Amino acid sequence: MPILRLALPTPLRQLFDYLPLENSTEAQIQALQAGIRFRVPLGSREVVGYLVSVEGESGHNPTKIRRVLEQLDTTSLLTAPILALCQWAQSYYRHPPGEVYAAAFPNRLRQGKPPPQVPPNHWRLTGRGKGLPEGALKRSPKQALTLTLLQENALVSRETLANHGVSSAVLRALKEKGLAEPAEAPVSSSAAIRMPALPANKEQTAALAEITPTFGHFACHLVDGVTGSGKTEVYLQLIAECMARSEQALVLIPEIGLTPQTLRRFSDRFEARIEVFHSGLSDTERYQAWEAARTGRAHIIIGTRSAVFTPLEKLGLIVVDEEHDAAFKQQDGFRYSARDVAIKRAQLEQCPVILGSATPSLESLRNAAQGRYSHQRLTHRAGNSSLPAISTADIRGEALQGGLGERLIRACEGALARGEQVLLFLNRRGYAPSLICHDCGWIAQCRACDARLTVHRRQRQLRCHHCGASQTLVQQCPECRGAQLLTNGLGTEQTEETLNKRFPGVTIHRVDSDSVQGRATMGALVEEINRGEPCILLGTQMLTKGHHFPRVSLIGVIDADALLFSADFRGEERMAQLLTQVAGRAGREDTLGEVLLQTHYPDHPAVQAMVSQSYAEQAQAIMTRRAETGMPPFGQLLVLRVDSDRLADGEAFLHQLRRRVSSQAPTEAVFIGPLPAALSRRAGKFRSQLLVSAPSRKAIQQCAQQLVTTAEHLRATRGLKWSIDIDPLEVL
Ligand code: ADP
Ligand code: ZN
Ligand code: ZN
Repeated sequence: MPILRLALPTPLRQLFDYLPLENSTEAQIQALQAGIRFRVPLGSREVVGYLVSVEGESGHNPTKIRRVLEQLDTTSLLTAPILALCQWAQSYYRHPPGEVYAAAFPNRLRQGKPPPQVPPNHWRLTGRGKGLPEGALKRSPKQALTLTLLQENALVSRETLANHGVSSAVLRALKEKGLAEPAEAPVSSSAAIRMPALPANKEQTAALAEITPTFGHFACHLVDGVTGSGKTEVYLQLIAECMARSEQALVLIPEIGLTPQTLRRFSDRFEARIEVFHSGLSDTERYQAWEAARTGRAHIIIGTRSAVFTPLEKLGLIVVDEEHDAAFKQQDGFRYSARDVAIKRAQLEQCPVILGSATPSLESLRNAAQGRYSHQRLTHRAGNSSLPAISTADIRGEALQGGLGERLIRACEGALARGEQVLLFLNRRGYAPSLICHDCGWIAQCRACDARLTVHRRQRQLRCHHCGASQTLVQQCPECRGAQLLTNGLGTEQTEETLNKRFPGVTIHRVDSDSVQGRATMGALVEEINRGEPCILLGTQMLTKGHHFPRVSLIGVIDADALLFSADFRGEERMAQLLTQVAGRAGREDTLGEVLLQTHYPDHPAVQAMVSQSYAEQAQAIMTRRAETGMPPFGQLLVLRVDSDRLADGEAFLHQLRRRVSSQAPTEAVFIGPLPAALSRRAGKFRSQLLVSAPSRKAIQQCAQQLVTTAEHLRATRGLKWSIDIDPLEVL
């Protein structure tokens, strides 16, 4: 009897065997495609699983094997390359296969729900409606108007009708009279260019000349171009080529805040169906976008990291924009890097993949240097603007106002007086990062984390930025009842308050995750800013990602020191990337830019490097230092993390694991730990970790496999949870 081998959404790293449906024939069973969804019993639950293979027989006792309950698809909804990609990802990341397959489906299908019945979104006249004379239905002006609209165009969308004030009731009335009916919009098959491409400059031409011939087979290209050098223009021209080949393009971006601007540029250029996957979509909308992508009706798919698993009928090109961005790495559950998965996918789909960035990761730079990727450099800004001049403002001993020293304040005044805009960067939200009692020294701590609570004055709250816990802002010290509670340090809320006093009449836009929620808000804000009135933008990292602010001429980094002294091995790389990205917002178009870094360490080598070197030069120097440590990209890493109720439990688990695995592991693998994590307690759990480094991927994969198999068989104490992270971004 053949057996169905399924991947199920459980935390177990194994496949599950089931008997086929009772009345199915041998031929029917052999014809089942991998990826088909089945509803199956699991313990006392019913779950949706994905067919991986049909096996001749199971290794298990056949009387114990249960039967599938329902077959949900007749043919697989996943393409062959996506199936292969899931296979690869579950093995590379050592993740439970069911959760990996689930990543390729929208929520609705994961839950086993049928495809939603979507009512047609357009209206047209019936034969009878067409027969009506002009000016009919005079007694009902709304119905008359609707009739006119439908007479002018054969098919009118629901949105257009709504824009003319036509309600559902009016349409219903016309339908009841047999004059109008809902209808499907035609499937547009071919895309067209709406706006001609900009004439490519010399560097763009060179990049296009290298990349274009690689359509139709796998190649990886690093497009390494300073901010404003025309990377997006290169993507657009490649996408035009992709569409001319009747193929689809997949564009991955780190954050959805970027979509309004990116989307506008795409839709201005192409007369094409563009599907954007963002968190604001309902389950039904997400399913529709996914379905349009899968069936080849969508020409361009833009999305964040999870979009990398979207099945596409005829993928021709993948673009990973801002490839260095940490947001491409999923930090919990299925810990994959969407950039790395995209490269694997391009290999499986036999198409080119573009990694674009103004500040490429050391991983990609090294791959380019070793010839695995082509290296396309765009060294000049494409428009008329030049890169901003960067200088430091030494704030030692200065009286600061909301964190701003004299020099930065004067520079702000100058820019505002010239009618220009200012961007101030402070990567800390809230009013102040801690609250202390002046009488006894008590500090507001999170009960569940090894961390201080942040003061949010406007909401009168103390909040933990690690676990999200919040409580009312106390007025009195809980230890000594003292009333002198002092805030320590500086957050955006406090700086905003000071700026409002210091620059009366000037609009201050605070941009952080407290003040701006959702992509619509961000889109509206960016639009308002780009209308060009002089103003001050004050924000966290949220402000720095890919936005164009053509009227910003001054950028102030309020606390450059906060980036210095990171203990993580990627600390200096991150700092160079972040500051270069912040600086890149200034002086686009015709406004000359200036960047001021406020610091107490003007002579620190990293600060000096920012002032005097390009990102490429800094990256080169960091690369040389990194090589000496053997850390990625010169070696490979994995982290096994444990959360436990008691610190000793987690450490004992990791000690056992290390003892059992290190003796059989490849000799070149180095085991470090168990060590407490940088935040040693979060949300009530103690966190410890075991780090393994090795010169080769093969050795790391071997260790990963041994660690996972051993961990699965180790007896864990209650409340203990472990996870493995291959190619971790942070190892603290
Ligand atoms: P990046 O993606 O590298 O930041 P963009 O593609 O957004 O760069 O280009 C920056 C600016 O330069 C945009 O306003 C864009 O329209 C303009 N630009 C890009 N390429 C050209 C070109 N070949 N000729 C003229 N302007 C260009
Ligand atoms: Zn006190
Ligand atoms: Zn907390």
